[in-house]
Amino acid sequence: MPVLVVGSIALDHIKTPTAEHHHLLGGSASYAAVAASFFGPVNLVGVVGDDFPLQHKQLFADRKIDLTGLEVAAGQTFCWSGEYEMNMNNRKTLSVALNVFEKFQPKLPESYREIPYVLLGNIAPSLQRSVCGQVRKPKFVVADTMDLWIEMARADLLKLLKEVDMLILNDSEAKQLVEEDNLIVAGKKIAALGPKYVAVKKGEHGCLLFGRDGEFFSTGAFPLEHIHDPTGAGDCFAGGFIGHLARTDDISFANLKEAVIQGTLVASFCCEEFSLRRLEKLSEGEIHERRKAFGTYIG
Ligand code: AMP
Repeated sequence: MPVLVVGSIALDHIKTPTAEHHHLLGGSASYAAVAASFFGPVNLVGVVGDDFPLQHKQLFADRKIDLTGLEVAAGQTFCWSGEYEMNMNNRKTLSVALNVFEKFQPKLPESYREIPYVLLGNIAPSLQRSVCGQVRKPKFVVADTMDLWIEMARADLLKLLKEVDMLILNDSEAKQLVEEDNLIVAGKKIAALGPKYVAVKKGEHGCLLFGRDGEFFSTGAFPLEHIHDPTGAGDCFAGGFIGHLARTDDISFANLKEAVIQGTLVASFCCEEFSLRRLEKLSEGEIHERRKAFGTYIG
């Protein structure tokens, strides 16, 4: 089954304690679409400026991502700049230039409207909601979000929660959204706000999955000794998650648990190099190998 991915497409500037890189391919949709492409056909909706390098577009094409929904607008591509602390977990945003993203209104090509598996990558909840209004009877809709929208667009985010099947966010964002310090209580409270499921990411400590009817699953992350750039790991998690659901066309809780593991594994590859460089070289065989090893770690 095909997947629809909507989100940001960016040129990122990233600084870590040991390296600094400019004009890297980034954005929630770029990472998520490439991650999902290891599982089946992907259709991308987003906007880039007329400065967007051909080589980045080629990367999407090489992954057989359908680009009918990719808008090229006059102006510069969205640009995000971030810096990681020594521990590679804490990061601060140094600057954001919305550029062509400022006027972006996702418009789904007619051929995308019946796509059954939908990933609303991290963008403003009002834009995510506009996509919900354009798809017809999707089978499963996942939304990703971040602290910025919890602070600046809470009302829209709360409306969105009633329109999606699952929300993905990280641990501090989950606590922030429902003003609750206990993560288990926070997960349950978010599920009560609308989505059937909530995935709470805990970085190097893995992920929790909550179901509205009391279902629960917890997994660790794949153990990595060297993290070069964790940017986009969350988006890769979301892409791997929806990709697995679409490939298997099974939305049972048992399969959602496997989707969490597949998302975790794709995210682990993402951290091994800057930008999408590791995913560019990744093969499905390597994901299978890592899945086998992970199986022995989790018993
Ligand atoms: P992650 O590390 O999974 O949180 O994703 C990082 C990516 O999100 C980067 O490539 C950024 O270009 C993109 N990003 C950062 N801030 C925003 C924002 N406000 N809206 C959409 N995308 C963003």
